[in-house]
Amino acid sequence: MANTFLYFDHSATTATDPRVIEAMLPYFNTLYGNPSSLYSVGAEARKALEKARATIAEVLGARPNEIIFTSCGTESDNLALRGTTLAARCTGNHIITTAIEHHAVSNTCVQLEREFGFQVTYLPVDPDGLVDPDAVGRAITPHTALISIMYANNEVGTIEPIAEISRIARRHGIPFHTDAVQAPGLLPLNVDELAVDMLSISGHKFYAPKGIGILYVRQGTRLLPTQTGGGQERGMRAGTENIPYIVGMARALELADSTRLSEVPRLSRLRDRLISGIVESIPDAILTGSRNQRLASHASFVFPGVEGEAVVLKLSMLGIGASSGSACSSGDEGPSHVLSAMGLQHPVARGSLRLTLGRENTEQDVDRVLKELPGVIASLRAMSPFYNAEGTIAVQPVKSL
Ligand code: PLP
Repeated sequence: MANTFLYFDHSATTATDPRVIEAMLPYFNTLYGNPSSLYSVGAEARKALEKARATIAEVLGARPNEIIFTSCGTESDNLALRGTTLAARCTGNHIITTAIEHHAVSNTCVQLEREFGFQVTYLPVDPDGLVDPDAVGRAITPHTALISIMYANNEVGTIEPIAEISRIARRHGIPFHTDAVQAPGLLPLNVDELAVDMLSISGHKFYAPKGIGILYVRQGTRLLPTQTGGGQERGMRAGTENIPYIVGMARALELADSTRLSEVPRLSRLRDRLISGIVESIPDAILTGSRNQRLASHASFVFPGVEGEAVVLKLSMLGIGASSGSACSSGDEGPSHVLSAMGLQHPVARGSLRLTLGRENTEQDVDRVLKELPGVIASLRAMSPFYNAEGTIAVQPVKSL
């Protein structure tokens, strides 16, 4: 049993950076005012709020009044989707999204479909998990009110051609939203270069605390507020602002942005070592997601003949924290909707494992995984009805990758 715990699940969440905690601390009990109050502690809180907004706007290449603070990535996605489509419901009733979105987007689409009469096109993806920009163009109708396509997929790490797709949306005058929750610190976030109208971010994916998020909304985009009340955030998201967390998230985004260019090559080297080591040492291991259009931090696989959750539990007993697909879908019945959309079906898709790297991971950590994982997979396969003694898969993937 290992005496150190190695964390390989940074796509699920990250530890709060001590520099972020330090920036937050005064706003709990010294500068604790409500930013709407007129006296001094209120004014201090207001100053901190607007400074954080300006910092975030600068990283995104946006105007400060285009930044809306929310409670998480899920809320940002909900506000973007429900807010724009309900604002446009008299003129448009059609939404375009993909089959591989996070449930924060896909379940909101399902609700808009069932309860509000919208029609939703769920675009397919290729075996790498990539959306075809031409398919987006073909799906547009005179009634399309919104296009929402994620920047990078949380389960398989595939990076979507957002800048290309957003320009198609712009040519048709359709608002374009991207769920960029997996992007900070790993991908460029300039909203003009990406040509997006709305972009969702969640603090806990880049070393800020859980429970704080951002929705960027380009000036001029029509949005019906989904949370009404005291008029905070220019009336777009009522509720007293969470100043310590907003200050922390601004600091975290600044840090993530300033280290991105050095961290991405380092993480990519670790990721590539992990991918080639696993594919070479474990028979029939399949890399899921694109080999090239892939987040620097992300390695994901399926191992036919095993259950992903069993792999995760065995790794946990060895002191390694990983996940089987998305943290948010654990407990779901059946194989992942992302792997199914990529053509991998039950039971092969059940053997999924996601290893996601972060700031503290080293080559030695990767070597530990490469040492332990082959034995874990072999021991589980020895008990599997789907993997025979000769080492061949008894059930083939429906479509090979
Ligand atoms: N979108 C993506 C792509 C995610 O990976 C996640 C979380 O894993 C979310 C949205 C939801 O973010 P939050 O946990 O802040 O609600």
